[in-house]
Amino acid sequence: MAKKYQICKRCVMDTSDPQITFNAEGNCNHCTDYLSMRDNQQSAEKGLQTELDAIISEIKENGKGKEYDCVIGLSGGVDSSYLAYLAVKEYGLRPLAVHLDNGWNSKLAVKNINNTIISLDIDLHTHVIDWNEFKELQLAYLRASVIDIEVPTDHAIRAALYNAAEENDIQYLLRGYNRNTESIIPKAWTFLKIDKKNLLDIHRKHGNGTLKTYPTIDSTRISVLEKGGLKTFAPLNYVGFDQEKVEEIIQAELKWKSYGGKHHESVFTRFYQGYILPKKFGIDKRRAHLSTEICNGLLPRDTALEVLKDSPYDEEQLKLDYDYVVKKFDLTSQEFDALMALPIRSHFDYATELKSKIRKKLLDPRNPVYRFFKQRRNLK
Ligand SMILES: [Zn+2]
Repeated sequence: MAKKYQICKRCVMDTSDPQITFNAEGNCNHCTDYLSMRDNQQSAEKGLQTELDAIISEIKENGKGKEYDCVIGLSGGVDSSYLAYLAVKEYGLRPLAVHLDNGWNSKLAVKNINNTIISLDIDLHTHVIDWNEFKELQLAYLRASVIDIEVPTDHAIRAALYNAAEENDIQYLLRGYNRNTESIIPKAWTFLKIDKKNLLDIHRKHGNGTLKTYPTIDSTRISVLEKGGLKTFAPLNYVGFDQEKVEEIIQAELKWKSYGGKHHESVFTRFYQGYILPKKFGIDKRRAHLSTEICNGLLPRDTALEVLKDSPYDEEQLKLDYDYVVKKFDLTSQEFDALMALPIRSHFDYATELKSKIRKKLLDPRNPVYRFFKQRRNLK
C-alpha cells in the first residue's frame, strides 16, 4: 500500500511511473539524473557556447545561395516560438518554418503562429492533414487502448519536417526539444514516435479507411536522409532556459500570448493531458513539469504538492473540451466513455519496428538501441 504510492523525497515523481527507482535517501532516478545532467551542462557551458557558435557558422556556410538554411517546426508553443526567435534574431539564420495542422489547433495557437511569422519575417509551410484520415487514426489509438495517443500527431510532425527538408534541399533540421524542461518524462508515459510499424498496425486493426495522405517516416528513411547529409540539432539544449524570461521575450518580440498550460496550444493535447491520461492511465503530467521546476529551485516541493491537490483541469474548461472532443470525433458521450473504459493495452501488443530481443532491452537506458530511439523520440 505505502509502496504503491511511494513518492520521491526531493521531487514529486511517484510510482505512477511503474519504472521509477529510489535510492537509499528516498530520491528518485528522475531528479537524480536531471540534476547530474544539469550540473554537467553548467560546468560545460563555455564549451557548449563554442560548439553552438561552430554549428551556426556551419549552417550559414552550407546555406549560402539557398533560399533557406534550416527547417524549424512551429507549434505555437513556448519552446518552438523561442527557437524561431533565437534562430532569426540571435543566430541570423534563414529558417523555413513548418507547421502541422491536425485540426486541433486552438484559436490562440493560430494567432501566435501568425504573429511569430510576421514578427520574424519568415516563410511558413503548413501541412494540413486530411481530417477524416487523422480522426480515424486517433480513434484507432483510442480503441487500441494504448497510452501514447499523441503518436499520430508527433509522428506526422517529424515526417513533415523531414519532408520539408528534403523537398527544399535543406541540410539542417533544428529541433525544439528542450532537455531543460522536458527531461523528466518517464519513458513508460510515452511511446516511440517514429515506430511506423506500430502506427500502421494500430490503424489496420482499429481504424477505418486507408491512410492516403497522412505523412509517415521510419528509422530506415531517416538513416538514408542522414547519410545524404541531413543533420539535426537542438539549440535549446545549448542555452540557459528560464521559462519566465523566455515567455517575456517572446511576448515582447513576437506578440506571443500564454495558453495557461504547457502544450495547451492544442485542444486535444490539453484534453489528453488533463483528462485521458489522469483518468484512464493514472498519470498526471504536471508531476514531471513541477519536478523539473523543483530541481531548478523555482518552486518549493510543498507548493508543488499543493498544486497537485488541485484538479489538472479547470472544471468549466473540461466540460467545454469534453463536449468539443466527443463531437469532433463524431461520437456520443456513451461511446467515448466506453473507449475510456476499455482495458489498457501495451504498444507492444501491436507490431513494432523493434525486434523482440531488443524489445526486452528497450527499457534499459544503458542500451545503445534505447539511446538511439530516445534520440529520435526527442525530436519535436
Ligand atoms: Zn525525484
